[in-house]
Amino acid sequence: MPRTSATWAAPGRVNLIGEHTDYNLGFALPFAIEQSCTATVTVVDGTGLVIRSAQREDTVTLAEDDVRPGADLDWAGYVAGVVWAVRRDGARVPGLDIHVDSTVPVGAGLSSSAALACSVALAVQDVLGLGLDRDALLALTRSVENDFVGAPTGGLDQLAALRCVPGHALFCDLRSLQTRQVELDVTGHRLAILVIDTRAHHAHASGEYRERRDGCERAAALLGLTSLRELDMAGLASALERLPGDELRRYTRHVVTENERVLRTVELLDAGEPESIGPLLTASHASLRDDYRITVPELDVAVEVALRTGALGARMTGGGFGGSVIALLPAELVPACERAVAEAFAAHGFLEPRTFVTAAAGGAREVVPG
Ligand code: ADP
Ligand code: MG
Repeated sequence: MPRTSATWAAPGRVNLIGEHTDYNLGFALPFAIEQSCTATVTVVDGTGLVIRSAQREDTVTLAEDDVRPGADLDWAGYVAGVVWAVRRDGARVPGLDIHVDSTVPVGAGLSSSAALACSVALAVQDVLGLGLDRDALLALTRSVENDFVGAPTGGLDQLAALRCVPGHALFCDLRSLQTRQVELDVTGHRLAILVIDTRAHHAHASGEYRERRDGCERAAALLGLTSLRELDMAGLASALERLPGDELRRYTRHVVTENERVLRTVELLDAGEPESIGPLLTASHASLRDDYRITVPELDVAVEVALRTGALGARMTGGGFGGSVIALLPAELVPACERAVAEAFAAHGFLEPRTFVTAAAGGAREVVPG
């Protein structure tokens, strides 16, 4: 019997390392967090959509013709975009009632948007019996963000939401879209990963993001490459000499050194030495601050204070211009670090940060009622 309703959950993620490398077809190492978005999709009469979020006041009602790219649907675009992409790919979609409820902090660099689109996509495909595999779902949910919402993101978040497994980070090669599970056991080493949501947002983040992305494409073209992924540490110095201007050199140096840091981090985790990755995390932050220039004072202060209170490493995570910092630290230092960050933020007149300890959780899953 065809189903009339399905419920799926998809997690947010922390990117352990590998920032702004995804659209350069490089490497990244995210892991899923406990917090997730749950979507319930129910078939109703007609061909329209009724979209509700427990985190929003408005109910969004859309006729079939309203569901097209460029329609300014705000948050509901991440949901309606799924239906648009499914129809574009040839499926008939009946009327749907879609209800979402998320525990992922929104706009905090923890990928609430991919959690939303992936949970909806899985529930829609299940209730309609589309038979899409995880690769097709990856392409579909990326297209929601890139082609429907219009956010030029690079695919890392959807990979993490769909493919992560508990206890592991996901080593991603964004060129081949191959992934490998890498054990991430911090508690066994008496360590903790503390997330510090700075609650800072940058009004022009999407323009700045696009500028970096365009800059990287320009640098690659000037070097005769398809993407900066083709450049490694051995070729970096001579490539930098061939690039005009400080900006393209800084972007290129960040991307190439960041890819290298991901590879080194994976080596250390494979060797069972999570306690040794701290300097790589901190170097990643310095590169994002000094070369890529996407940090804000809240992110830099959180990193500095975490390191001062004994963190082995700390870095911003996510797209930047606000959002969250992660700190790797001995588990017993967590309360002191939380206190010190809260005090420093108060002293700087920043918003009160939100902090929580996280560990590698599972990827998208069906939620069985009852
Ligand atoms: P991030 O993915 O890091 O949280 P983004 O700016 O990519 O930040 O995505 C945040 C956007 O995703 C929100 O502005 C909103 O449009 C949408 N969103 C995420 N979760 C929800 C939710 N639970 N309800 C409604 N909209 C949501
Ligand atoms: Mg997002």
